[in-house]
Amino acid sequence: MEKYSVIIIGGGPAGLTTALTLASANGKFPFVEGKKYLVIYGEYSDLDKALLKNVPGIPVGTLGKDLLNSIREQVKAYPNVKLVKGNVIKAKGEKGNFKVYLEDGTVFEGENLVLATGFHKFNIEGLNVEVVEHHNSPRPNKVMLKHNNNKVRDGLFVAGLLAGEPTMFASASGSGAKVACDILSEWAGKTVVVHDVPDEG
Ligand SMILES: Cc1cc2nc3c(=O)[nH]c(=O)nc-3n(C[C@H](O)[C@H](O)[C@H](O)COP(=O)(O)OP(=O)(O)OC[C@H]3O[C@@H](n4cnc5c(N)ncnc54)[C@H](O)[C@@H]3O)c2cc1C
Repeated sequence: MEKYSVIIIGGGPAGLTTALTLASANGKFPFVEGKKYLVIYGEYSDLDKALLKNVPGIPVGTLGKDLLNSIREQVKAYPNVKLVKGNVIKAKGEKGNFKVYLEDGTVFEGENLVLATGFHKFNIEGLNVEVVEHHNSPRPNKVMLKHNNNKVRDGLFVAGLLAGEPTMFASASGSGAKVACDILSEWAGKTVVVHDVPDEG
């Protein structure tokens, strides 16, 4: 079975931005050579319901579902990322050796795991995570995971609303970018960001 360098559960702004940032590092640094990423996402993201007027750089009146589709296409353009639609019911393991189980019986293996499943509930069994009340939600009964600087434990990261971010696109997406940089920095053994500049001349 193919083993992914990072499996990201959740394909909303947080999960997709994690994937985009990781994928865009390939070809820039020797330590990401050959790394492969998997995003598993379900039917619904909160962004599907939104009409956007305050996402920087995005035209006022853009539908959230259209923005989500375009980010998905942006991610798909990278050959080192695979996107799979499915419902994760169970995950287990530790850094270097996680297994993720889908409702349809498919199993994936990964070295690192990022959880970005939003704040409505967390019902993935097997990870021994602490689910607590969301501390930035305008509504009751929303959840987040206990973490330390986006890390639940070695190899297990949390991003977006599930990490307690306020329910705004930029916050969720920024959290995904941070987690990706954290993972890249672990691999590099020093602080890493992924920047591009225009060609000269
Ligand atoms: C009605 C509405 C209007 C909004 N308007 C705005 C706005 O104007 N401006 C703004 O900035 N923000 C707005 N938002 C907030 C914005 O949509 C959220 O902040 C953002 O979507 C959160 O991103 P996320 O990736 O953390 O979670 P989500 O977008 O909820 O994504 C969670 C992902 O995890 C997947 N998932 C969950 N469980 C599983 C599982 N077991 N297996 C596999 N996949 C799973 C889901 O399918 C989804 O892909 C709005 C939200 C709503 C609901």
